[in-house]
Amino acid sequence: MKLASRVAKIKPSETLAITAKANALKAEGRDVIGFGAGEPDFDTPANIKAAAIKAIEDGFTKYTPVGGTDELKDAIIAKLKRDNALEYKRSQVVASCGAKHTLYNLAQALFETGDEVIIPAPYWVSYPDIVILAGGQPVIVETKEKDCFKMKPEQLQAAITGRTRAVVINSPSNPTGAAYSPDELKAIADVLIDKDIIAISDDIYEKIIYADFSFANIATVEPKMKERTIVVNGVSKAYAMTGWRIGYAAGPEQIIAAINKIQSQNTSNPASISQKAAVEALNGDQEVVGLMVSEFRKRRDIIVQLLNEVDGIKCLLPEGAFYVFPNVSEIFGRSFQGKKITNSTELIDYLLDEANVATVPGAAFGSDSHIRLSYATSLKNIEEGLKRIKNAIAKLS
Ligand SMILES: *Cc1c(COP(=O)(O)O)cnc(C)c1O
Repeated sequence: MKLASRVAKIKPSETLAITAKANALKAEGRDVIGFGAGEPDFDTPANIKAAAIKAIEDGFTKYTPVGGTDELKDAIIAKLKRDNALEYKRSQVVASCGAKHTLYNLAQALFETGDEVIIPAPYWVSYPDIVILAGGQPVIVETKEKDCFKMKPEQLQAAITGRTRAVVINSPSNPTGAAYSPDELKAIADVLIDKDIIAISDDIYEKIIYADFSFANIATVEPKMKERTIVVNGVSKAYAMTGWRIGYAAGPEQIIAAINKIQSQNTSNPASISQKAAVEALNGDQEVVGLMVSEFRKRRDIIVQLLNEVDGIKCLLPEGAFYVFPNVSEIFGRSFQGKKITNSTELIDYLLDEANVATVPGAAFGSDSHIRLSYATSLKNIEEGLKRIKNAIAKLS
């Protein structure tokens, strides 16, 4: 059967594939510890669930306006003002079925053949494919580990061409956990300031930050960038709401209107019930967020320590999100039963087969020298999983 050529141009999300594989092994009875998941292991807070139950009981179960209810837009507007000192009107915000969907619609609204989009690597798996599906061309800028995986202004400058339409900034980052300080963002903004290039600020991990500076985005540190910045965010990561599928964008009216138009011809509104839940997440008590973050911080400290105790693994201390991205390249060249491990994919296969531990190859994020582990799992799993990894690596010769 003939499929559209765009299908062959992209790959399935590798993180989702690894999680599915680990779950399938678990279902077969294998005792697999999963470090693959890109979602908090906490339950959605009770007040948020209650708001959704009430929405169902009140019969709030019909179509809403395509880009979300005014109530949700107002909650998003209040959040952006409170947390980010950014002011928007209702016509400048749109809610979608998760931040991934927001990014997809944004790419469909902005990019076409010949357009270049700068993506710093290591990058979140979906950015390049979302750009490709819109017909655009990802331009990968490889950040250095010695720069803590942050793009230098000179690197950005060097990647810009006459066809550059946008640059993606994801801070704190998935997969590295790197977070840009306000000064670092200002330096990036200085490169972009007089250019007709849109900054796509994926702030989905803004609440999960341990750095000794507070979260900032490029439009907050450089107000002149606001007219060319699209802020993308959502409730998935901050409120343990990945399954509810609510993300949003805020930015120039023209772009938001274009996203609305595209969304009106694909999904229509995000789920009405989830919208009510998201309103409660954004407007309600924020204490649970702090509790989750302090738990994540404990796990981060332990997983980094344990990883660095493994011979051949070097791991930076991430400043945010719930991932570590250790360098495993020293292990390449070692063998198990005569078979050499030469790249991140072979290493994660070995760890799954021999140690019953699921991780994600760095190759999926644009860096084959690394693997990604999510520490959105219990301390007990972290300790047991790292013991298994250490033993499995010790078996290599
Ligand atoms: C999880 C994630 C998203 C998407 O989250 P949704 O669940 O679709 O809201 C977007 N960007 C990054 C970097 C992520 O890790």
